[in-house]
Amino acid sequence: MNKSRIYMDYNATAPLLPQAREAMLAALDLPGNPSSVHAEGRLARSRISTARRQVAALVGAPAAHVTFTSGATEAAATLLSPHYKMGKADLFISHLYVSAVEHPCVLAGGHFAHDEISTIKVDHDGIVDLAHLTALLEAHDRSTGLPMVAVQMANNETGICQPVSQVAEIVNKAGGILVVDAVQAAGRMPIDMSASGIDFLFISSHKLGGPKGAGAIVSAGEIMMPKPLIPGGGQEKGHRSGTENPPAICGFGAACAMALENLSESLSDIGDRRDALEGAMRASAPDCIIYGQDQMRLVNTIFFCLPGLKAETAQISFDLEGIAVSAGSACSSGKVGPSHVLAAMGRDTALGGVRVSIGSGTSAEDVNRFLAAFEKINSKRLDQLLKKGTPAP
Ligand code: PLP
Repeated sequence: MNKSRIYMDYNATAPLLPQAREAMLAALDLPGNPSSVHAEGRLARSRISTARRQVAALVGAPAAHVTFTSGATEAAATLLSPHYKMGKADLFISHLYVSAVEHPCVLAGGHFAHDEISTIKVDHDGIVDLAHLTALLEAHDRSTGLPMVAVQMANNETGICQPVSQVAEIVNKAGGILVVDAVQAAGRMPIDMSASGIDFLFISSHKLGGPKGAGAIVSAGEIMMPKPLIPGGGQEKGHRSGTENPPAICGFGAACAMALENLSESLSDIGDRRDALEGAMRASAPDCIIYGQDQMRLVNTIFFCLPGLKAETAQISFDLEGIAVSAGSACSSGKVGPSHVLAAMGRDTALGGVRVSIGSGTSAEDVNRFLAAFEKINSKRLDQLLKKGTPAP
């Protein structure tokens, strides 16, 4: 990466960790197919097993409960399905309940038809309305099949965390299946799948310093599993066919191992940096809106808005100052649209929000350079507000 640029868009994707790169390079030279029984195949298989243990350890699950996928989007498309197996028996799920602030890969609803999906409301800070969830599940007709609930652990735009254990209690009581998108949370907060009440969670390699194009489904057990999205040669115990991608999987495993090793240190260091940044932003722009600032949030994320300045304009200004931040989430096509997250929170979507997401590579100097750019952009905004006759805050 260009050294003169500052990268503060870790929630879109985190830079590849050196340990992940090393593991990938080593795996690239493995000649064997992990399904082959000869020594070369067994070596590739054993590297994948190491990665499976590393991924499992990060979320507090047994390695046998990890199924590798091409990323979180594939994991969501696999899990959000009416068709499950409970051992040899079929299990039918008749309705999907998703929170309004989910990532598009969850909002798309997997294999559920449009009229089999309901939205769970969120409050002004983007937190799931537990009373609404309870009411939806009470109204669910179990004679048609089981309910499934999909809720994220932390939001990709705002960083706001959901009360997953309370959600799990409600879903378990209703006899439903809980799927948790832990993509942004993994490596940024402790996760313990055991005794969490979560049936399935999924994570993505590239958000925690691994390569793009790898992810995992982690299940609470091995008996209840979705019918495979990709049937075929029976890899991943038949849950996801196709020859495994050892470099991507090994890089993912190494990134998980680093995330786990550094978790407490990085949480406090990154959190301190974020808090210092946020404090200085508030001091220089007291009218700056920081979404969810009093809620439990990922320690690395600030989602803010400067009244009178569109988020996209601010993003371009930061980019010109050499700083990569994003206006809301990373859009696949590069286009910027109104944030569905802000809309669900009942906030002003016209101004949008600028997302600053930092990580292990963010230095104190980066923070200072960001603040200098922030002050410059803010004073331009104040000048323009004055010219328009709007009183400065
Ligand atoms: N879920 C969340 C919360 C995300 O932030 C993302 C990526 O932006 C995804 C799912 C999709 O992940 P992947 O890029 O691995 O498909």
